[in-house]
Amino acid sequence: LRKRKIAVLGSRSVGKSSLVFKFVEDHFIESYYPTIENTLTKTVSNNGVEYECDIIDTAGQDEYSILNQKHAIGIHGFVLVYSVASHNSFELVKIVHDKIVSFTGNETVPCVIVGSKSDLQRVVTCEEANEYAKSIEASWIETSAKSNVNVGKVFDLVLTEIEKR
Ligand code: GDP
Ligand code: MG
Repeated sequence: LRKRKIAVLGSRSVGKSSLVFKFVEDHFIESYYPTIENTLTKTVSNNGVEYECDIIDTAGQDEYSILNQKHAIGIHGFVLVYSVASHNSFELVKIVHDKIVSFTGNETVPCVIVGSKSDLQRVVTCEEANEYAKSIEASWIETSAKSNVNVGKVFDLVLTEIEKR
């Protein structure tokens, strides 16, 4: 059993907790305490290998508190979440990624860029998101925790990204 620590980061209310809960508990939560950080654990298999994933559902409230040093140390992979309905949240993903790179000193840290709430009217295009993800050598996917689209895929992708390095 391989242990992996995965941090889920992004603007407040982009749906991080909903995504993590849907994945771990298979249950969609309408609202959750926005300021409480939680670690949930799930065992999954990816490419025939069993992983025990500690998923850190972070609760930073702004670009300064979203990533602190503790989220950059000992983390194997990052899930960076924006909402397809919020361009600001997409811009914040770029800022957070830059911070991860400077904290870890690693230009190609394993990352998955997640466009959440794909059931809503989009303002962030697939092209710009995909292009950004390519530029930082990350995977990119759109999800809806509400409509149960691509939730498990996020964590398959991050485990695959971690194995690539
Ligand atoms: P967090 O602050 O990033 O952890 O965001 P939450 O998971 O608490 O979600 C914030 C709000 O967005 C809540 O009202 C959720 O019900 C809603 N939400 C989360 N995921 C989705 C989704 O896939 N689609 C839609 N339409 N709403 C969602
Ligand atoms: Mg939350």
